[in-house]
Amino acid sequence: MRHFAVVGSGPAGFYTAEALEKAYGDKARIDILDRYPVPYGLIRFGVAPDHQSLKAVSKRYDKVAESAGVDFIGNVCVGTDVSVAELLELYDAVILAIGAPNDRRLGIPGENLPGVVGSAEFVGWYNGHPDFADLDPPLDGAHAAVVGAGNVALDCARILSKTRHEFEGSDIVGHALEALEASAVRTVTILGRRGPHQIAMTPKELGELGHLEAAVPIIDPADFPPVESDELLEPGLRKSVGLLRGFADLPHNKSKQILFDFFAKPVAIEGDGKAERIIVERTELDEKGGARGTGQTYEVPASLIVTAIGYSTPPLDGVAYDERGTKFLNENGRIADRLYAVGWARRGPTGTIGTNRPDGYEVADQVVAAMPAGSAGDRPGAERLKRLLAERGVMPTDYDDWRKIEETETTRARPGSPREKFVRQADWLQAIGR
Ligand code: NAP
Repeated sequence: MRHFAVVGSGPAGFYTAEALEKAYGDKARIDILDRYPVPYGLIRFGVAPDHQSLKAVSKRYDKVAESAGVDFIGNVCVGTDVSVAELLELYDAVILAIGAPNDRRLGIPGENLPGVVGSAEFVGWYNGHPDFADLDPPLDGAHAAVVGAGNVALDCARILSKTRHEFEGSDIVGHALEALEASAVRTVTILGRRGPHQIAMTPKELGELGHLEAAVPIIDPADFPPVESDELLEPGLRKSVGLLRGFADLPHNKSKQILFDFFAKPVAIEGDGKAERIIVERTELDEKGGARGTGQTYEVPASLIVTAIGYSTPPLDGVAYDERGTKFLNENGRIADRLYAVGWARRGPTGTIGTNRPDGYEVADQVVAAMPAGSAGDRPGAERLKRLLAERGVMPTDYDDWRKIEETETTRARPGSPREKFVRQADWLQAIGR
């Protein structure tokens, strides 16, 4: 019998577990570990609460979790409760699927002022991540800014602009819904350091901005290159740019605005003890398509500034990092003997949920190549892990606990919401009688 540990229960972890289960059948036990008693990682804490159709992929993960060879071991933090080196003693292979939950930093003066939050924090706050339950982002000013021209920037701008009515059917947490309803924010400026042709925003997500109840997207037509040059773009990007061009024709007849400001690179954040404005340098494209400062600066008022400029994977003792420090150093997913990385921990923070499927299957193939299905393993797996955790006073949770928590969340749901998510570790544990 082989024993595999998959660390992290987001999309990458579940696809890898699914692939291993298919490859080994009843010749392997696969344990999916998570630091929380509830699974799904990015699906629960990252995907926007008003994108329920994307979250529905978790039904597929449920099937994996229910299969005979797979177990969920929650409430265990690898790196704190048990080390990677210890897991390698207990398991035939360890697959790190811990994602990239840390915000990249702008590295500019004023970034630490109150009012400046990373997108992982802000998204975590409205999605019920326990680490950010108390974030309390300042929503009492009229102006907010979001830095970055990717899909996460779009998520943040849209969530800041929606009405309560537009959150119906979402699983946004109650504290965020209340705060957003009372919000004074009327202008959200999206700052892209390059131009409309360099956005990382996809058409479906961008298109949503054109249909908001109380907010209208605004864009300066002067920011666009000649329309003929759109022909050279790949089809998805061409579609996104077409949508942006369409925004320039929309009437400004709503109470809130989402302002696209391109060729705008933040150089400092200023304010009296808290963020009040962001100083931006006008840029132009250099020969390689990068953002080159022109020396011309101006101010964008903002008492809330969300940086949505990408993420990094947190370090784990004894596991090597790539030179940019954003992901584990690996070759096609292999970090070292019997140690692998999948998902954002392998590739860096890019790609959609679906990208993780081939990624997980590819790494599972490598595991199979190193330990062919049917070959004997001599590691003890979960039984010994649980004993070790008990010695350390760590009480893991299991699949039944996860189900009980989800059931309780669903039972408590307010009208129009699929569930009322717990936002604190203590609430989760209380729901399972701890
Ligand atoms: P992203 O797509 O990599 O976008 C990051 C943005 O930040 C880019 O516009 C980048 O500009 C900008 N940026 C980076 N460093 C900066 C700096 N120092 N100053 C100013 N701007 C800076 O990352 P993301 O938005 O975090 O999304 C991560 C992944 O998740 C993406 O693959 C995304 O498509 C995916 N996602 C998908 C969905 C969905 O499908 N609904 C939703 C959310 C996220 P440059 O291009 O100039 O570097």
